Amino acid sequence: MKTKNDWRWQLANSVRTWDPPGVDRDLADRVLDRFPMSVTPYYLSLMRADDPGDPIHRMAFPHLDELAPSDSTVDDPIREEDHAVMPGLVRRYPDRALLLVSGDCPVHCRHCTRRNMGKGKIVPARGEGLVHALAYIEDNPEIRDVIISGGDPLVLEDRDLIDVLARVRSIPSVEIIRIGTRVPVTLPMRITESLALDIARFGPVYVNTQFNHPAEITDEALAAVGCLVDAGVPVNNQAVLLAGVNDSPEIIEDLCRALMRARVRPYYIFMCDLVRGIGHFRVSLDLGIEIMAHLRGRIGGLGIPQLVIDLPGGLGKIPVGPQYVIGHKDGKTILRAPDGTTVEYCEEKIKS
Ligand code: SF4
Repeated sequence: MKTKNDWRWQLANSVRTWDPPGVDRDLADRVLDRFPMSVTPYYLSLMRADDPGDPIHRMAFPHLDELAPSDSTVDDPIREEDHAVMPGLVRRYPDRALLLVSGDCPVHCRHCTRRNMGKGKIVPARGEGLVHALAYIEDNPEIRDVIISGGDPLVLEDRDLIDVLARVRSIPSVEIIRIGTRVPVTLPMRITESLALDIARFGPVYVNTQFNHPAEITDEALAAVGCLVDAGVPVNNQAVLLAGVNDSPEIIEDLCRALMRARVRPYYIFMCDLVRGIGHFRVSLDLGIEIMAHLRGRIGGLGIPQLVIDLPGGLGKIPVGPQYVIGHKDGKTILRAPDGTTVEYCEEKIKS
């Protein structure tokens, strides 16, 4: 008999209906039509289920604000559709390719950037489509880094996931494989010791995940990432800065410290993309920079992620943050220390 520790039981028993008190059924259905809901019982157990202000609830349950009109948001701000060389394969940079292998996720995060999954070329590469995508990667040997994503690739059965990994690894020009997954956060029982060892066989493989709040780092999540790291699969975190979830320096500091204890490297903090339907999650860039200034000097550099904006128009990611170089004077550079002290830094070569 399957139990709540079984990932298939979790998927089969996910909450997919939303009936908020006092909200017109038609209105609720309009929200779900735009982006359906799915919440695993495990993820549900992390939140105060009757409190829409709870940070985990906010990431998992729909909100009427998703229907708010906006002139500054679009369906695909980072232009993945324009960069798709064929269905299921996106190439935004010369040396990297994004291979979409799944169209579903255990939890449909309300802040998801890839809400357009299933439309146009943003569909999973399966069967013949996967054969074509792999042939394209092989025919373009400048692609050294393949990011396997979706949806969430870890909703595939083990044999299917291993098959994809094996086929990507067999391409001689591919140096590294990355797996983008939120399973350690939303369905951690999916990751077992044997799956982690299977993934490690195709190394170097990196897992990039997305913990956004310290409350997501549970014993179950620690066990999942522990299996991966013990097997030799480095795990990095790509958080998203979200209003009402983690928009404070103290929460991000707690998150980064908890990630470090879990042996997960805080890698990126993304500013929220300009995606239609998630405007209520947006946080000012000034606050993002204030958070980064708060971390510097409080946490060792290994635990400080980079704050990045994925530029609208598909122009790539750029780092943003506090300015520490504040000017030049008399051949010296004026720097600002984390506590605000200014320091003169001499760059002259000293000759004997
Ligand atoms: S796991 Fe990732 S792709 Fe899936 S809904 Fe969440 S953010 Fe979107």
